[in-house]
This record gives sequence, C-alpha cells and structure tokens, in this order.
Amino acid sequence: MARALPVRQMATGLVRRLLVGAGQRWQFDVPPADWVPPRLERTSLYLHVPFCRHACPYCPYTKVRYDDALVGGFTDAALAEVEWWARAAGGCDITSVYVGGGTPTLALDSVAAVVDRIRSRFRLTGEVAIETNPADVDDTTVARLRDMGVALVSLGVQSFRPAHLEAIGRTYSPATAEDALGRLVSAGFASVNADLMFALPGQTAEDVVADLDRAAGLGANQVTTYPLFTFPYTPVGRYLRLTGVKLPSLRARRTQYRAICRWSTRRGFDRVSVWGFKKGSAPRYSSVTRAGYIGIGPGAGSHLPGGFALNSFDYAAWSDAARGGGPAVALWMPFSQQLAGWWWLYWRLYDTRIPLDQLGATLGRDASRVRSWLRLGELAGLASQRDGTMTLTDAGAFWLHLAQNYFALDYVNTLWTAARRRPWPTAVSL
Ligand code: SF4
Repeated sequence: MARALPVRQMATGLVRRLLVGAGQRWQFDVPPADWVPPRLERTSLYLHVPFCRHACPYCPYTKVRYDDALVGGFTDAALAEVEWWARAAGGCDITSVYVGGGTPTLALDSVAAVVDRIRSRFRLTGEVAIETNPADVDDTTVARLRDMGVALVSLGVQSFRPAHLEAIGRTYSPATAEDALGRLVSAGFASVNADLMFALPGQTAEDVVADLDRAAGLGANQVTTYPLFTFPYTPVGRYLRLTGVKLPSLRARRTQYRAICRWSTRRGFDRVSVWGFKKGSAPRYSSVTRAGYIGIGPGAGSHLPGGFALNSFDYAAWSDAARGGGPAVALWMPFSQQLAGWWWLYWRLYDTRIPLDQLGATLGRDASRVRSWLRLGELAGLASQRDGTMTLTDAGAFWLHLAQNYFALDYVNTLWTAARRRPWPTAVSL
C-alpha cells in the first residue's frame, strides 16, 4: 500500500497532463481577501443541512449531531449566506434548488425559511428537490414539503433487509422505509427517488433485485443505486473490521451491477446516470449534475464560471463567518477554460449520454481527441451512437464507475480530508 501511492499519484499526474495540459494548477488555496464571485445570470443552488441523529459509518458528508438548540443558529447563518451571495453574485435566475445533507427533514423550519429567502432575493425559476430519511417521513413532513413547493424527493432507503440495514448502521426497520416510500408516492410529488445500496457485506444480486422490486412495487419512479465503500476516508473500513464482515469482490460488484441493469430493462426503467434509472416521464432526480451552482451551508461547494469555491467544513467556523456577513468560503481553485470543458465532459459521462454536437463549443481544440476516444469506446462495446448522442452501454457505465472511483473520488478524498482537518486550511494540493 505504501508503494502504491506514488504510482497512483504518477498515473493521476500523467492522465491530467494528457487531458488538461500543464497550464492548470491543481491546488485549492485560500481565496484572496477581496474575493467575490462573478456576477451571475443564472445558476442552481445547493443547501447543505448538516444535522444527523447519528453518524453512519460509511458516510463522507459534513454533519453534526442533531440538537434542537442548534437549529435557530443554523437558520440565521444560512439566511445570512443567501444574502451575501445575492449581493455578491446578483439576484440572478436560480434554475433549481437542491436540499441535501445531513438530514434536511430534521430542520424543515430552516429549509422553509431559506427557500423563502431564495425566492425573495433571487428569481427561482426551477424546481426544489430534497433528500429525506425514512425515520422522518410522516404526514406532517409530507404536508410541509408540499407547502414549501418541493417537487422532487429522494428517500434514503438503502435496503429493505434488516441485516443489510444493520451492516451500514441504519436504525429504522424495513417497514418504516416502506411506509415512508408509500407516503411520498401517495402525496403526488413529481419525482420520488429511492436510494438503494449494493455491494453491501453479505449482499447477493438476488437481494439487490428484491430491493429494487420492492421500491418499484411501492411506486418509486426513480431508483438510484450506490455501491458501498467509494469514499476511503470514512470509518467504514474500521467498522467492517470491528464487525468482522467482508465486502463483495470486484467480480461480485460487477455481477450485482449487471443484475441492476437487467432489472431496469425488464421493468421499463431507463438509465439516467451511471447509478440512476427512471421510469416514465417524471422529471429526473439528480443531486450532482448541474452546470453551475451556489453552495450554502458548511462544507458546501460552489461551481462558478472560472472556478470552484468550498465553504469551511467546520460548523462553528462556517456559522461565525456567515453570520458575520462575510463569505464562508475557505478554499478556491480557478479553472482554466480547458479544465471547465473536461469538467463538463466528466458530468456528461456520469449522465452516460454525451451530446456530440456540444463537444466543439465546450472542449474547443480537445473535441476531436474526445471524438476519437468515443469512437474507440464504441468499437470496444462501451458506448453506442444514435441521433447525435453517444450513450454508454452497461459495460461502459460499469467501467466508468471504476474510473470515477479511482480518479475523481481520490480528489474528493484528498480535498475533504484536508478540509476536515482545519476550519480554514491554507492550501490543498490535488
Ligand atoms: S448517511 Fe445520511 S443519515 Fe447517515 S450520517 Fe451521512 S448524512 Fe447522516
């Protein structure tokens, strides 16, 4: 393992030099003292609600233990941060609001207040989407979500089997998850997504398919499947050692992914991302594929024209900075135009669909290189072209997820680990 790291770094360095050239600096720094974002015409917005009742061992996200006494302060800080962005970036169009966490349903008063403030300080032109937890979904929660204009909901079911819920430290019962999913479906939200995990310790392809059948049977119009263990810095490794269970091999993971793909075809769900499958004309639920966004909350990122900004991960530091009327941005990395083009391509690959007519405008001189690689992918059976779109096949999507684990999540791991260590890190090299 000690030897693997330099090899991995060298491989990563070579790949990014080949793709983006030598001009891009791969380092996050403290933003300049007078840093302000560019004025924006249109963007999306992400609100991070960090509260959780307990910490799931596999979870990589910024979170604090839920305490009633913290919620008022969180609301004040989030509202102040919305105000700062509205002044700095302008009251632009907000094409979607995504509320994630943490567990947003633990602080719906905060969420409602922030969504109201977004409506008054920006022009909200798109939908509001939110993550929910099975333990929090009752009639009151559903009514509040409807009142605040939420159209898309995602329920973090993870599994309908008690042993698998226990293996990942989830404390609700399968019956609670079923009841929550049924309530959300009955409430008539435009999109109800169920998050389900695979490659859990002891899980088989049959177990995964049974979970998918259960979610679809209860009326979910989208399912998003995630393998365990994609973020290496979470305590999950230690947790699994403590509990003495083993993760499925790569082969088992591939078998399970194939079973998911076959299931989606059989049940009429179309692939909408590497992990996501949607049925019918419901809008797609997605947390990560917006072209640009403002991030509100501790650890939230903002993808802006020209670069990426990251808020302080430390709850108290974030809250003090926001309530003090300033930005809570701890780190900033400018993007060259070339990197912005590759970033766009990365997310289109994640969507598993690449609109070929947009390659020239986004990738410039790199577009012909990308076209050749896509053609090679087509010859290898990893992609197929139709009506101007290159679509990844099941095999292409599986290998992409492995590449994503290797490179992209390695960056996220490096950045988030450093950002967690200190409230205001000085620099993070990727
Ligand atoms: S997985 Fe969800 S509920 Fe569990 S700690 Fe992470 S954010 Fe909280």
